[in-house]
Amino acid sequence: MLLFPPEWVPTAPYLALPSLTAVLRQHGHPVIQKDVNIEMYDLFFSDTFLIWVKARMGMQLHALEAKEAAGLLTEQEVDQKAVLSRKADVDVFELAAHAMEAKRITRGEDFYAADKLEWALNTFREVMQYISAAYYPASLVFYPMESNLGYRPGVSQEVFACLEDEQVNVYRDVCRQLVLPAVSKERPDVVGVSIGTQMQLMAGLTFCRMIKEAFPEIHLTVGGNIITRLQEELPKHERFFTEIFDTAIMYEGEHALLWLLEAVAGDRAIPTIPNLIYRDEDGIHVNPEIHTEKMASLPLPDFEGFPLDSYFVPVRILPYLATRGCYWGRCTFCDHGQG
Ligand code: SF4
Repeated sequence: MLLFPPEWVPTAPYLALPSLTAVLRQHGHPVIQKDVNIEMYDLFFSDTFLIWVKARMGMQLHALEAKEAAGLLTEQEVDQKAVLSRKADVDVFELAAHAMEAKRITRGEDFYAADKLEWALNTFREVMQYISAAYYPASLVFYPMESNLGYRPGVSQEVFACLEDEQVNVYRDVCRQLVLPAVSKERPDVVGVSIGTQMQLMAGLTFCRMIKEAFPEIHLTVGGNIITRLQEELPKHERFFTEIFDTAIMYEGEHALLWLLEAVAGDRAIPTIPNLIYRDEDGIHVNPEIHTEKMASLPLPDFEGFPLDSYFVPVRILPYLATRGCYWGRCTFCDHGQG
């Protein structure tokens, strides 16, 4: 099973999963690929989730009122209670109806009517503010991707703390509602999580952490541009490899993932897999051998399994990559060659 975590633009599939899936299927591996990013936005803008959010806010408000009666509210809790009290007056059924109408607008001809599209985008923002209140003090935004859970993704201790934080980490609930049921149903041998950008790091690692807790027998691997860029940092923190995932794939992942599946099945030794960071009894190892894919011999990306009609655009958009990397590859600010 391959997962693409939030947050990313909700207009088209990202190319990483279809590229990996094509190679795995070509070699006979059944693959389930899930764009959890678009599934999450589809869920957020639905009546079921918004009613659930209202119940969550109600429980939080009730607990804060009890603390207030005992004179125990902190300054932050006073602020949280004010935020929740303001949202308590919102008609959640009307908000949910607007959210679903906004989705309809973005997915049809009304997308091209500027006033309707503006109304839809403002509705999405209003809904995200409503959801944010239930995860106070997190700030969850629809677009651009600037959600802030209050933890810095570049500080490992904050990352570990964020993964366990039930108050602000909305991705724990996304995982419970969208990811864990799918993993439980399919029981894959391997779950791969593609983390292409820093904005996906918290969600991606949260999914890994919770899958690992619930299904310790599943091999969890992570890959993507941001994982490649963390190749010197990850081995310094063994917890990543004991509590969150088993292996990490750097750079291009098609054949490294294929060979990893063979290793998990007992047909290959893990230390022989290029691009891999793994842990054994001697510690964490970064395999120095880097495998570069030959693009001309790779199969076409395979989008089978993506909810292509769920994206928030009126026409299907599929990404296309005509080339990879760069022959020069020396500009220090550039991450073009990082997978
Ligand atoms: S900026 Fe990146 S892609 Fe462009 S020449 Fe430099 S290394 Fe290559």
